[in-house]
Amino acid sequence: MPLPPSPGTAQHCSIDLANSEIQLPGGKSFDALASPEDTTQWLIVRGLVPQEAALQSYCQNRLVTLRSQIRKAFHASATGTPVAREVLQGINAALLAAPSTPLLHHEPDKGFFRALEHPATQLTEHAMSRLAEDAAALLSSEEAGLLAQCEAEPCTRYLLKTHGRRHWCSTRCGDRVRAARSYAKKKSQQDSSAA
Ligand SMILES: [Zn+2]
Repeated sequence: MPLPPSPGTAQHCSIDLANSEIQLPGGKSFDALASPEDTTQWLIVRGLVPQEAALQSYCQNRLVTLRSQIRKAFHASATGTPVAREVLQGINAALLAAPSTPLLHHEPDKGFFRALEHPATQLTEHAMSRLAEDAAALLSSEEAGLLAQCEAEPCTRYLLKTHGRRHWCSTRCGDRVRAARSYAKKKSQQDSSAA
């Protein structure tokens, strides 16, 4: 992980997902979902699939698509712009992909209990529905007003502006903005004294 998690990531797995692809200075980028193995590991670490899970590339692609839809919805929310119908459809399809209501069970020694159905074949669906649920809850809550994209180019990570006017995802991005500003200020002073 080349950058520490942005504010809000710990509370929202959907922000975590949105930020799993990072644009770094110098045209470099880092994608935590670059392969089926990386994607599986990303989900295991976050407790979204069990330890023994092994996703195929088909499932990796579905997760990457959901990430792009969540990023588009975040962008619409942060900028107050309309969101495409396909984006809503994609997030809603993920929401509906797995049952989110714990069903009633009964076992002689345990009695009645409720538990989510977790068929082994639906690991990806469960992970996607939890990520989509988090995104839907965030986007429709008052907290959505805090959602912003990092302003330190080329970074495109999302964050919750929990620290007042802070508009970047990490101290590293903040330092880069400050360094760029002071360079621009010095340069304009030099230019005006040269003129
Ligand atoms: Zn940033």
